[in-house]
Amino acid sequence: MTLPSDIIQAAPLHITFNSGYVPPGFFTRFVVVLTNKMELCFEKDIGIYRNRVTFRYQDPNSTTIEHVIVTDCTDVIQIDVQHHHLNQEVVSFTKICQNIRVLLEDAAKEVEEILKKCASGQTDDNKSTSYIFMHKFKYVCASCCQSTPSHYIKLSPANQTLVCCENNTTKYRLPTELEEVWFKDTNQATEKPSSSQRIRSPKPSEVMSTPAEPGSLSMPPPTDTHIHENPPVDPTHVFQSHIAKLCKTISSDVVAVCNECYSSDLIGDGTYSYVITATGVSIDDKATRLIHDIESQLKSSINKQEYLSNVIEAFLRVNNSNLSIVAEELKNSFL
Ligand SMILES: [Zn+2]
Repeated sequence: MTLPSDIIQAAPLHITFNSGYVPPGFFTRFVVVLTNKMELCFEKDIGIYRNRVTFRYQDPNSTTIEHVIVTDCTDVIQIDVQHHHLNQEVVSFTKICQNIRVLLEDAAKEVEEILKKCASGQTDDNKSTSYIFMHKFKYVCASCCQSTPSHYIKLSPANQTLVCCENNTTKYRLPTELEEVWFKDTNQATEKPSSSQRIRSPKPSEVMSTPAEPGSLSMPPPTDTHIHENPPVDPTHVFQSHIAKLCKTISSDVVAVCNECYSSDLIGDGTYSYVITATGVSIDDKATRLIHDIESQLKSSINKQEYLSNVIEAFLRVNNSNLSIVAEELKNSFL
């Protein structure tokens, strides 16, 4: 699709689902919820199709009107935002995209709540079911060449201005200008309004390798009368010393713990589906798998301190008193 020269299109945003498909009813509900927040667009050739609906969105302070195109691609919902560039722009495209993203995230949460309620209702003939799907917003890579299969990018946990492609998590780079509209913080965006020309021709993005790991832990000081500084506490060691206790504690709530960790991007898809769907394995096996995935993610994490803090926060959100005690212990051991 070739766009007219006065139109800029942000890198696509995808709503993905742990089931691998858009759950029944999600797309139509999503469109209905969005019509409360944006105006349906009936323009010829853009308008409304069976699996695609276009909205007109005007940011409260902006003079421009964006087209927000929502498409049900069966496996994901794709969002494209088209910006019609004007010479005088009060609000940058980046700022507008940030606002649109918040609006979309709120709408998706709302839809999830509605579908959960729908599933839990029952009649004499139909027993209630449960809506078990979880959604996640992902950002499509706009940097790799067209021949590479479509994939997502994610922010570096250590440096929020860098991203990496999902298929190469060791190479961090700056986001392209079509990608960064989703990430950049709004303060920077208002200081530096973007011009259409700048956005349309992104320079080749700078490629950076993963920052080096901090030096290995120094040997503990010999015990003598001199005063030594304590060596820094390694979050991996702290976590490892609690593994046995954690496996036992999370068993009673393994699904809840898994959901919390997954929704905060702390564990992989494989572990998530193992814990949620595997049959014929014991709860203890699931708990062990979950804890060991966290351990290996922690080991390979660039910012171990931050990763472990996020894990502790996820544990605390489960509201299991025994788990909260272990989480507090972990917190006190390394913070
Ligand atoms: Zn890529």
